[in-house]
Formats: sequence, structure tokens, C-alpha cells
Amino acid sequence: MLPKKEVKKRKEFQLVKGMKDILPEEQRYWDFARSLVDRLARQYGFKKIETPILEFSDLFVRAVGQTTDIVEKEMYAFTDQGDDHLALRPEGTAGVVRAYLEHGLQTLPQPVKLFYFGPMFRRDNPQAGRFRQHWQFGFEVIGETDAIIDAQIILIAYKFYQAINLPVSLQINSIGCLSCRPVFENELKDYLKKRKSKLSIISQERLFKNPLRILDSKEKEDQPIIAEAPQQIDFLCEECKNHFIQVLEYLDELEVPYALNSSIVRGLDYYSRTTFEIWTQKEEGRQSALGGGGRYDGLVSLLGGLETPAIGFACGVERFINQIKETDFKVPEEARPEIFLAQLGAAARKKSVLLFEELTKAGLKVVENFSKSGLKPQLEIADKLKVKFTLILGQKEIIDGTIMIRDMENGIQEVVDFGKTIPEIKKRLEKSVVNDQPEKV
Ligand code: AMP
Repeated sequence: MLPKKEVKKRKEFQLVKGMKDILPEEQRYWDFARSLVDRLARQYGFKKIETPILEFSDLFVRAVGQTTDIVEKEMYAFTDQGDDHLALRPEGTAGVVRAYLEHGLQTLPQPVKLFYFGPMFRRDNPQAGRFRQHWQFGFEVIGETDAIIDAQIILIAYKFYQAINLPVSLQINSIGCLSCRPVFENELKDYLKKRKSKLSIISQERLFKNPLRILDSKEKEDQPIIAEAPQQIDFLCEECKNHFIQVLEYLDELEVPYALNSSIVRGLDYYSRTTFEIWTQKEEGRQSALGGGGRYDGLVSLLGGLETPAIGFACGVERFINQIKETDFKVPEEARPEIFLAQLGAAARKKSVLLFEELTKAGLKVVENFSKSGLKPQLEIADKLKVKFTLILGQKEIIDGTIMIRDMENGIQEVVDFGKTIPEIKKRLEKSVVNDQPEKV
């Protein structure tokens, strides 16, 4: 039983706040996104991985970080009937790395290249482009440190937006490693402490817990302070500096334009060295970043494996689809049906069910509406669906052992032998395809 208060404050049986139904008319965008992800994954040799939506909470606490907004405020975490502490996954990388270790993927030739496409859950404040269940596709390369991989993973992320002709801007930074980041963090902390009273309340709270996060604050009062703050790239150790320079050189080689942005620190603890985000060109805030990622060289060992370098990115599917809708890019339409099967009377209806099966078996794109009985409403549907031909099976045709083929373009109707329905319709369809071809000049 639900507590009375909960039933009262909402309508019965409605969507949970921040969740979204994906209705049939939306599906072609989703199919397109999925097929693009599959295509790029295949091109670059990534294998698909699906991990559960539910994991032990401590996986995310450890991987994403105790002091991140995601873990601290947004994670759907609960204790189940067996007293297990579980959480709906807020991001994809932690589960992928857990699976990599649990199934011994470290024994395969390295690097292991994996990709996923699935829902994530964050109890954030829902607003435009921000949901509590949203979908991400992500690509991960585990087991390689070379800068060439950083550049290639960035190129793949970039290509998703190129594929829909969307100009995007790639924001890139390096946040160093465990040996050089603390030096920078101290410098940053000192700088921020001196300006504490001018910082936003949120940033003041972050100052002691996670000062790096202040750099990607969107609060207005923080902006002048962030603009003058020390930058990580000035504190990189020799190795991190060389790595970063190489990444940039590879990007130059690949002709991927980028903007150096010292505020791209990413929200999660597991990042090191290269971090990047993909922004629409007009937007300025992280709020609506299309995607982002970076190197996470420490994560595999943090989750109990050997020291293993890795890098990845994740992009929001809803945001990707929104961009498609805002541009002129045309997502391929679902293949239209070619034939409508209309039936009149009980005997014809009975025969139609089987005929429908035979037509589909023959590879024809056929639709019906068996719940209608009059010819007029059925022809109206056929018209709306823009099919090329309607097959009409009525009382007379049943008695004569025939079927009528109506050409929907000119209304001409021909009667053919019922037993020859499939070859006759195929012949006409082939002819109509030839007629549809644009004339050669
Ligand atoms: P993040 O790991 O937070 O950088 O998320 C990766 C991508 O997922 C972001 O760049 C967004 O495109 C998308 N994303 C993250 N959070 C949400 C959300 N609450 N609603 C919709 N999309 C989101």
C-alpha cells in the first residue's frame, strides 16, 4: 500500500518526474542514433557490452567519487529486500570496468575496445535537456596509454556530430596525474581561499571537498574568479605535458579543431590527463554539453585490478536527437508499406489472415486493418499510408477464386487469379519501381 500522502499529491498512474516515454513517432530518431553508434563502433573495432542497470552502490561511490554531485545527491540508491545496497547506474564507465575485471578481459590482447548504449539515472532537477532517466552511448578503450588513442577516441566522439552536419566545438584540457595534480590543487585552493567570500555558496562548500569542481561552476559570481585562476596545464609534470602535446598534435593531424579550456575538469573523480567535452557551438555552459570524456588511468586499479590505463567518452542520446531536430538533417524514414490488404465479409476476412502471412513470407511490405469491414474506410487507410497497391478480397472474389489489385495512383482495378496473387503483385511492384526511377538526362 502506498502512503496516503503520496497518492494524494499526484495524479494516479502518471510518469515518475524526470522520466520520459519514447513514443512510436520518436523511434526513427532512436533507431538512427543506435545504427550510427553501431556503424562507428564497427568501423573502429569496438565490441558491444551491456551491463546491468543495477549495481552495488559502492561501485559508484568508489569509481565516481564520494564527493561528486552524482553520488552525493543524485544517485537512486536503496537497500533491497535482501539488505543489499544497490543503485541505479548514474553513468556507464564504472560498470564496464567492473565487467572488464570480473570476466577477465584483462587477459585478452590489449587494448580492449568496448561500447554501450543504455539508460542512466540521476535524480537531478529535471529541465530542458535534463532528465532523471536519460540515455547515453559510450566508447571505452582499456589498456592503452598512448596519446594516439586519446586523439582517436576524441575523433570518434566528434564524428557523431559531423554525421548529422552539426558544427560542434571540442573543448579540451589535461588535468594531470596523481603526481602533478595535487601541486596544482594546492595552488588552486590557496588562490580560491583568498577569494572565498566572493565565491558562490555552492563553490564555498566545494572549496574543501572538491576544489577542482569550482572550475566548472556555472554560478555567475564565480566566473571572474575562475577566469583568473591558476591553470592545470601550467603545473603538468613532464610526462603529462608531453602526453598532452602529443594528443593535440594528433588532433591537428586529424584536422579536428579544438579549444583549450582549463575549466574542463569533468565532474567525476576518476579522470586523469586528457579531459574533453563536446559543446554545441552556440552554448557556453556545461549544462548542455552534448558529450564528454577523458582518460581514467587510475580506475581499473581503484576497482581492484592492476594498473591499467584507459580512456572513454559518453554522449547523451536525447541531446543528440534534439540537435538532429534543430538542424535540417533528415533521418531516414521507416520503409513505407507497399501493399494494403483489404477484405469484405466474413469468408474473405478468414482467407485474408492466411494471405497476409503468405505475403509477408514472400518478403512483401504489407499492412492490413482487420478490424475494419467496409471498403471505404480501408481504402482511406491505404491512401493515408501511401501504399502503391491495395489487394481487395470480397464475397465475389471468394466465389470466383480471384483477387482484385487496385493501383492506388490511378485507381485502375484488375482482377487476377487468387493463386497468382504473389507473382502478380510482385510484377506490378517491380514495374512501379522502374517507373519511379528519375529519368536520365
Ligand atoms: P556526463 O557523464 O555527466 O558528462 O554525461 C555525459 C552526457 O550525457 C552529457 O554530455 C549529456 O549529453 C548527457 N547527460 C548527462 N546528464 C543528463 C541528464 N540528466 N539528462 C539528459 N542528458 C544527460
